[in-house]
Amino acid sequence: MSAKLIDGKAIAAAVRARVKENIAEFTGRTGVRPGLTVVLVGEDPASQVYVRNKGKAADEAGFLSRQIDLPAETNERVLLDLVARLNADDTVHGILVQLPLPGQIDEAKVIEAIDPRKDVDGLHPMNAGCLFTGRTAFIPCTPYGILRMLDHEKVELKGKHAVMVGRSNLVGKPAAMLLLSRHATVTICHSRTVDLPYVVRSGDVVVAAVGRAEMIRGSWIKPGAVVIDVGMNRNAEGKLCGDVAFDEAKEVAGLITPVPGGVGPMTIAMLLQNTYEAASRRAAVR
Ligand code: NDP
Repeated sequence: MSAKLIDGKAIAAAVRARVKENIAEFTGRTGVRPGLTVVLVGEDPASQVYVRNKGKAADEAGFLSRQIDLPAETNERVLLDLVARLNADDTVHGILVQLPLPGQIDEAKVIEAIDPRKDVDGLHPMNAGCLFTGRTAFIPCTPYGILRMLDHEKVELKGKHAVMVGRSNLVGKPAAMLLLSRHATVTICHSRTVDLPYVVRSGDVVVAAVGRAEMIRGSWIKPGAVVIDVGMNRNAEGKLCGDVAFDEAKEVAGLITPVPGGVGPMTIAMLLQNTYEAASRRAAVR
């Protein structure tokens, strides 16, 4: 048997088209073009690509998109001052500081400095707390994208065992919260989990966000399971691959995301969705 592929590119394109329509309607009604500002510190090549792609997608959707580049040696104070200016700027609805930041800057401090109402990455403790307590929050873009994909595929989560491999603040923990909010029974695994293959094999839904090329083998997957692969790694041949051994897993799973073309495109789409939500929430309180 071969699993059905979840086409992240197509689902993301639909989300982006919807956001574009919403932005056109919003701008027509309010005269305001929602703004997204992305801050990049340093010249990390991967971050440069991500930031460029985010800016391009935001432009295409009709946002007022801005990118601010700061040198790698920027000190924390300068970045915090910039964030404060962006917080106060009415033309900016969403602020995204691209991570990772250079070592001299405390990432947590910078994230906490962003106005939670403009925190379209959903990483501020206020948004994390809202997600945890079931209140309206900005949901981190990748977990939000995972949920959107599962919804698109009409995956029933209620009562299912969802195994989240990885517990980062960016992906694992918020994704686990979202799965829980849909009444899945959630197990969160990490580097100290004993007998990971055994735990994964009990998952009706498996989400992998580890950062280790093809670590999760096909023999670990329960027949018919839904497999969501967040990983973005290079294998020994330098080819982009996920955390799941795709060729093996697709023979066992019921539904599976490819890498590339799975979760990756959803992350940018949900960033646009969050920025639109930031703008409409601001308009609603006016
Ligand atoms: P982190 O490095 O922050 O977290 C990795 C998690 O995996 C940790 O919780 C760690 O456990 C766990 N882990 C590491 N080794 C093992 C192991 N051998 N067995 C079980 N668990 C293990 O990574 P992120 O969450 O930020 O990202 C994960 C992957 O997703 C990366 O490949 C990243 O590139 C990709 N990614 C892709 C995105 C996309 O848009 N497609 C967006 C964001 C990330 P512990 O906590 O114990 O250390």
